[in-house]
Amino acid sequence: MILNLGDVTARLIHLDSPHTRDAVLIYLPEDKALIGGDAHDVDYYDNHGKFNINRLKSFASFLQSLNFEYYLKGHDGAAVKKEVLLSALINGETLPGSLTMM
Ligand SMILES: [Zn+2]
Repeated sequence: MILNLGDVTARLIHLDSPHTRDAVLIYLPEDKALIGGDAHDVDYYDNHGKFNINRLKSFASFLQSLNFEYYLKGHDGAAVKKEVLLSALINGETLPGSLTMM
């Protein structure tokens, strides 16, 4: 779904993510920003607080294909640059709030 908000376009992206099976991310192409919704973190629901490697790889691949610079976690932490996010995902790490790299 795409929302036209005047000077801002918000593309809502539904994903089966590493953290939840029904995450909705918000992509703001004019700002090259991605709001992660409830997508990025370990899986507390179906995988005992660990990453599911297949969903993690799929998420990282999706992120690599998207043109953004800044990633904002949905419900905690601060914005991080795309390369910091991808590095954390490749290493199977979460993004603590103190890991701010803007
Ligand atoms: Zn969550």
